[in-house]
Amino acid sequence: MQCNAGSGPAPNPPVLSPLPPLEQLAACPECDLLMAKPMLSPGQKAQCPRCGYQLFAAHSRIVERSLALVIAALLLFIPANFLPIMQLSLLGRTTYETVWSGVISLYQSNMRGIALIVFLCSMAVPLLKLLCQLAVLLSIRTGQGRRYGLFLYRSYHHMRVWGMLEVYLLGILVSIIKLKGMAELGLGFGLLCFVALLLVQLWLEVIMSPQQIWEALSDPHARA
Ligand SMILES: [Zn+2]
Repeated sequence: MQCNAGSGPAPNPPVLSPLPPLEQLAACPECDLLMAKPMLSPGQKAQCPRCGYQLFAAHSRIVERSLALVIAALLLFIPANFLPIMQLSLLGRTTYETVWSGVISLYQSNMRGIALIVFLCSMAVPLLKLLCQLAVLLSIRTGQGRRYGLFLYRSYHHMRVWGMLEVYLLGILVSIIKLKGMAELGLGFGLLCFVALLLVQLWLEVIMSPQQIWEALSDPHARA
């Protein structure tokens, strides 16, 4: 093995251009490319130049639009969970099933662990997520308690993976298909509210751009 160190003049070290401040940098969550944050006008979107992942989307009046959606979701929450999802008639006996009665039935059938998971993922966490979003949006709107707003928005991101309304809806659809041949089945108003709640929450995810919310929470002069 040969070593040329000291045998001639050392090559000039590469000149590194200074990085902009950290707040002006963004990393792509898909491919880790580090880049300067683009300045977007309302309606514009920015994609990663390497992998094409959509990094940012600038929406106008997101606080007002998100507040309207959060309030709609909170209004739908009670009927979605406590009104009958389906009506089941078997051997002359009719029962009305709700999300809450499903949790109670699991608990009474000695499946307490599953009852707890269903309760957390389909009721408690989705409600806590909505309340966090409401508090964050109100904190931005009123300019009060942004420190708590930051804490709640962090908590919201931790809870995101635990709210599984989509999985619960899939379970309901599978049980409807399986029970169709065994009993007389009727769909209830609760199912309509449940689907509406799911759609409103998905819309909220699209409108409530995380980048704009983080900026509005950390910079009181940022417009959201
Ligand atoms: Zn990328």
